Amino acid sequence: MAFKSDIEIARDAKKKPIQEIGAKLGIPTEHLLPYGHDKAKVGQEFIRSLEGKADGKLILVTAINPTPAGEGKTTTTVGLGDGLNRIGKKAVICIREASLGPNFGMKGGAAGGGMAQVVPMEEMNLHFTGDFHAITAAHNLLSAMIDNHIYWGNELEIDQRRIAWRRVMDMNDRALRDAVVSLGGVSNGFPRQTGFDITVASEVMAILCLSRDLEDLQKRLGDIIVAYTREKKPVYCRDIKADGAMTVLLKDAMQPNLVQTLENNPAFVHGGPFANIAHGCNSVIATRTALKLGEYVVTEAGFGADLGAEKFFDIKCRKAGLKPSAAVIVATVRAMKMNGGVAKADLGAENVAAVQKGCPNLGRHIANVKGFGVPVVVAINHFYSDTDAEVEAVKAYVAEQGAEAILCKHWAKGSEGIEDLAKKVVELAEGGKSNFAPLYPDEMGLFAKIETIARRIYHAGDVIADKSVRDQLKAWEAAGYGNLPVCMAKTQYSFSTDPNLRGAPEGHTIPVREVRLSAGAGFVVAICGEIMTMPGLPRVPAAETIRLNEAGQVEGLF
Ligand code: ADP
Ligand code: MG
Repeated sequence: MAFKSDIEIARDAKKKPIQEIGAKLGIPTEHLLPYGHDKAKVGQEFIRSLEGKADGKLILVTAINPTPAGEGKTTTTVGLGDGLNRIGKKAVICIREASLGPNFGMKGGAAGGGMAQVVPMEEMNLHFTGDFHAITAAHNLLSAMIDNHIYWGNELEIDQRRIAWRRVMDMNDRALRDAVVSLGGVSNGFPRQTGFDITVASEVMAILCLSRDLEDLQKRLGDIIVAYTREKKPVYCRDIKADGAMTVLLKDAMQPNLVQTLENNPAFVHGGPFANIAHGCNSVIATRTALKLGEYVVTEAGFGADLGAEKFFDIKCRKAGLKPSAAVIVATVRAMKMNGGVAKADLGAENVAAVQKGCPNLGRHIANVKGFGVPVVVAINHFYSDTDAEVEAVKAYVAEQGAEAILCKHWAKGSEGIEDLAKKVVELAEGGKSNFAPLYPDEMGLFAKIETIARRIYHAGDVIADKSVRDQLKAWEAAGYGNLPVCMAKTQYSFSTDPNLRGAPEGHTIPVREVRLSAGAGFVVAICGEIMTMPGLPRVPAAETIRLNEAGQVEGLF
């Protein structure tokens, strides 16, 4: 059976002018700032005018641990948004913007797939409305101002060996991971070692996504720690006096982007922080705006629920005062099989025993999300090769866990294929059973927070860290950062720190190798394992086949 590719489906979309999509949400045209005909930013003034309005219901879409078989979180987020609209609910989708760099490496976009996509998908996966470029510029302005400050006499007495602020670009370029700058003589400054991260790893990205408004944005930018003095005293972005100009560069990027699904339903696509060293969710401003405008808001968190949902709850919801009404955990028969030990090449053959063997991974996520007090439903994202017996095996397993699994065919059929899930989500959300609470209180010590996540969510037996790591955490507590939440950075493929350990491992050890303070974003990052903040390109990058065809259309993106 031949399927159309995502990009072919997206090209055939019958898009409506963006003003019509805005009108569905009651956004007057004068408050929509159009970027072409099919994208618009929502004005700050309008957003401010919504203050005090009641919120709609927030639905989180999360998943089992990712496998190379693919799970389809974004596809399901978009499909569920369409499904809710189909059954008569005013629903808004909130997802992240795409990082440009990875699109030229591995195939794969951020706009969903099949009949559940947001459009224009080519633009969404390329420059879109320029937000990431603005973030890159704001970040690098600060970098330039730090080196300039040192060049002109270093009044703040920055220790050049202790500059924490690197540079960023939105490209996968391993050659820039470590670099020496200011070579070439006296007039170029003082040579020092630094490097580049990808833009989505910038603290500016995390800050933009957690700020309530422009004022909050500027304050948080000012709070960034850029370096330390020889006495190890922090030097802030505010000391460099970059926060004002950075806010100017970011003022448009702070406004949520409105686009539409293939079925002409509204979607906010805004922000895209890394899901490892940052929290991996779309912006607070987009989510809060959507909640004021819709009865339902469907949003996605990156990676599996052990990382994505945990950070969504413990960082984003905690900080923004959001209360999710229900959560959908996306699972696939194929991923269950992989968790049950089947190799990717053998996924096509029916294997009920392997599905059953892989299900405990799903079971752990169900229990974890319920542990936050949020009602759960499982969406089985249907793939063409799934057999009825395999689907039944997942359903039976989930029923044993005290939840329901619903087969969803939105990828193939759009909203029609996901009506049952939409109805179930409404039932859960309107049942008022959500009793959301974060996993740990603000007052808990930083290391205890890490241990709580490791034991309760990952089922680890032990958390280990060198004395230097523990001392650093204590020093931050003494400096007043002890009430911050913790942002865990570990492999997304496993509950443990070993990417090959699938299923639901117990009693493993979580080693905390390093801790970082994102003082502006407002979290402490605990790095457990190898974390790459500047990806490289694969041997055969997707860029080799991306081109414009005779009609001027983009080919090869997906
Ligand atoms: P995630 O958000 O979990 O990373 P996406 O929703 O972006 O995953 O989907 C990844 C890819 O998998 C997309 O190219 C999408 O078209 C494809 N995909 C998703 N669901 C299905 C499905 N049911 N059948 C076939 N392909 C699918
Ligand atoms: Mg996604």
